[in-house]
Amino acid sequence: TKNVYVFKKGSSGGRKEMKQLLGGKGANLCEMAHLGLNVPPAFTITTVVCQEFYKAGGKLPNGVWDDILSAVKEVEQAYGAKFADPADPLLFSVRSGAAVSMPGMMDTVLNLGLNDTVVKGLAKKRGERFAYDCYRRLLDMFGDVVLGIEHSLFEAEMHAVKEAKGIKLDVNLTGDDLKEVVRRFKGVYEKVGKSLPEDPFEQMKLAINAVFGSWNTPRAVKYREINRIRGLLGTAVNVQSMVYGNLNDNSGTGVCFTRNPATGEKKLYGEYLPNAQGEDVVAGIRTPLDVTHMAENFPEAYKDLVANTNMLEKHMRDMQDCEFTVQDGVLFMLQTRNGKRTGPAALQVAVAMEREGMVARDEAVLMVEPRHLDQLLHPMFEGTNKPEYKKAFLGKGLPASPGAAVGKVVFTADEAEKWHKEGEKVILVRLETSPEDVGGMHAAEGILTARGGMTSHAAVVARGWGKPCVCGLDKLEVDYPSKTATLGGTTLKEGDWLSLNGSSGEVLQGKQPVKPPEMSGELAVFMEWVDSFRKIGVFTNADTPADAIVARKNGAQGIGLVRTEHMFFATAERIAAVRRMIAAEELLEGEGSSAADALAALKEFQREDFEGIFTAMDGLPVTIRLLDPPLHEFLPHEGSPELDALCETLATEMQGRSGQHMSAVRILKSKIHGLQEANPMLGLRGCRLGIRHPDITEMQAKAILEAAVNVSAKGIKAHPHIMVPLVGFEEELANQVGVIRKAAEDTFKAKGATVEYKVGTMIEVPRGALRAGDLAKHADFFSFGTNDLTQMTCGFSRDDAEAKFLPLYVSQGIIQADPFEELDVTGVGELIKIAVQRGRETRPNLHLGICGEHGGDPKSIEFVSTLVDYVSCSPLRVPIARLAAAQAAI
Ligand code: ADP
Ligand code: MG
Ligand code: MG
Repeated sequence: TKNVYVFKKGSSGGRKEMKQLLGGKGANLCEMAHLGLNVPPAFTITTVVCQEFYKAGGKLPNGVWDDILSAVKEVEQAYGAKFADPADPLLFSVRSGAAVSMPGMMDTVLNLGLNDTVVKGLAKKRGERFAYDCYRRLLDMFGDVVLGIEHSLFEAEMHAVKEAKGIKLDVNLTGDDLKEVVRRFKGVYEKVGKSLPEDPFEQMKLAINAVFGSWNTPRAVKYREINRIRGLLGTAVNVQSMVYGNLNDNSGTGVCFTRNPATGEKKLYGEYLPNAQGEDVVAGIRTPLDVTHMAENFPEAYKDLVANTNMLEKHMRDMQDCEFTVQDGVLFMLQTRNGKRTGPAALQVAVAMEREGMVARDEAVLMVEPRHLDQLLHPMFEGTNKPEYKKAFLGKGLPASPGAAVGKVVFTADEAEKWHKEGEKVILVRLETSPEDVGGMHAAEGILTARGGMTSHAAVVARGWGKPCVCGLDKLEVDYPSKTATLGGTTLKEGDWLSLNGSSGEVLQGKQPVKPPEMSGELAVFMEWVDSFRKIGVFTNADTPADAIVARKNGAQGIGLVRTEHMFFATAERIAAVRRMIAAEELLEGEGSSAADALAALKEFQREDFEGIFTAMDGLPVTIRLLDPPLHEFLPHEGSPELDALCETLATEMQGRSGQHMSAVRILKSKIHGLQEANPMLGLRGCRLGIRHPDITEMQAKAILEAAVNVSAKGIKAHPHIMVPLVGFEEELANQVGVIRKAAEDTFKAKGATVEYKVGTMIEVPRGALRAGDLAKHADFFSFGTNDLTQMTCGFSRDDAEAKFLPLYVSQGIIQADPFEELDVTGVGELIKIAVQRGRETRPNLHLGICGEHGGDPKSIEFVSTLVDYVSCSPLRVPIARLAAAQAAI
């Protein structure tokens, strides 16, 4: 390949496919030139040269400068003027551009090639005001970008001159004013002991070196790390002849989108500024005009712009974001790229372009990113850029769970439930949340916490429900006794209206207007296209009939995970029954009859719930995980008044049997203390609980199967899949499967009817993954519990890692991504592969799925899409998983 690619209108060695070599900007400029668009002649120095620049210790490799000089000659010829020639000077811009657009890289330098002599020539030819306007811009940009002189020093001088003249706008500065500005800018150079090279070629060399040098600044390296941009050679450099939007009032510069990037509406959308250059449009110095106004001031240029952008959109097969300049009424194209867009716009554009025949259906499916869909599925605030919204801003935390929530402030889960029952919308504001708060969290419109990260209890639970949540807002102070909180200098009392933007992390005072998710006809059409490409199933994690219904509406083809314990928290009555069960099982060993009573009560609740879920999922598989968490999670925190009250109640209930009331309370407390474990996540939980208390497994299996038999009698098709959690040993699974099968026999005998059911296991302990061949002897299906599997494979405590070291690991590049968000393909992924292979060796028709948060993560879905039969995710992420699965298959 060549080092340098020259391009000009109608002729170009480069093409849009060459982004790796020419960078995004260079490749697309080449393409525009090739298409015959009016692009200022230019050349691109390749990313390979950048790589060699570093190998050569930070200087241009041999021969490249000669290539550059001959490219300059070619451009001069095409342009009809000469670089560094005072008689008729050609000026250049030096523009960076990697294959992926990267803020943090070097900025552009415009008007390169001016010095005290050349500027006089330019003034003679094109006017003094214009020439010195270019010169002051060069001094500013070159100083800032190449020499590292503070831009604000130049700004201060500019400001001083305008002050002195009583002028507000740069355009009103005269030629003499601008000469004064140039004089002062040179003073700035002198003060910092630097200078603009007199020789234009020296300017060019320094600017090119600076662009290459900026590829490896800590800022740029960091940016690539954070955004996981890997495998690029370096940046390209574009050296382009200048065209002048600041020449006169018949000139200008602007940016435009071929469609509205907020809505997708098919209409040229953008802004321009007359008599301006470069970034003036976005710098906000003057208010730009709507691009359609160009039709009046620049009719010819506008006609060309419309024609060019239409053509570009068709050619690039995507919505374009273009930069252009008008010089003396003539349009020049300076950049084009696929435009960034909101969720609604992405959907609109993809569907419209398919219908217009511009893209094929699979291309349309690839045009909508999963995060776009995410935006479409949550309620949103209206007018987030309106002053009313901005004025209401109180603070910003972590955007833990997207969507808009509006409600009245309450400070306890109990209040949240109480107010909710009374028909109030509430926002639950807590320092942090705990499992005991789930009832109140569920009742709230949104959750705000001062502590905890993106995987804190509040965040995980809220995301699971698709409920807006802002967490980790450390400026939030909560005073529970007085039922007040302070934030951003404002005191919030119980009952005050508050708005949470879970998509941005913003917290707003009062009742901000909300619009519902736009479940338009377009979305339905698009999702149909999506499903036509998808190869694996998408199931959902749902614990209630209500969740199941939402998930089904979103296209879920089954339930991959019902967490039975979540049902236990649903009401005060239930949690009381659970606590009685624990008391009977763990605290009062030997009290057989009271254990049976407690279990019987719970079984009723569970059976009812399962009937509801089977009904909601009529005809679809429902995978139910047996009790998983450590028992003490169901008990109040030690030392809390709730615990005292619980012990009192239990003691009263036991009284007849266990003698003295007071001593019963004491015994209970000490036993509860005994339930505490040093590492509860590695302690008595999952199948270990079921092995220690087979009657709990039996109760749950019976509740599930009785429910299945009951609804079947009403004509509903129930497909129960019973799942044993946390299995590492074949014997553990064999033990629990035995209990379940026996419970099934008993149930079917008692009921005089049977249903088909399956028994399987979670694969979430590394040993279980390795021994999958043995486990498959006893399991009809596997479901990979990737949360625990990640935790145990990496040896990261999920609850601690996020707060203590994961962000550090990511920022230092020790790991590329949070493994709880994006599946660790090389480690955890390897175990999954092993388990799939060994499991299928034993049982070729083994049904395989993924539950855990990775089931809703697009990158993780892509990885598992060739390994498993389905992924399972929270109800609101089902459409996203459908899209990700389709994109993985295209
Ligand atoms: P960025 O990547 O930050 O957008 P660009 O290289 O696109 O930087 O340059 C920023 C702006 O500078 C462009 O939008 C354009 O207005 C102006 N510009 C760059 N090169 C030229 C040129 N040769 N002639 C006129 N204006 C230019
Ligand atoms: Mg640009
Ligand atoms: Mg688990």
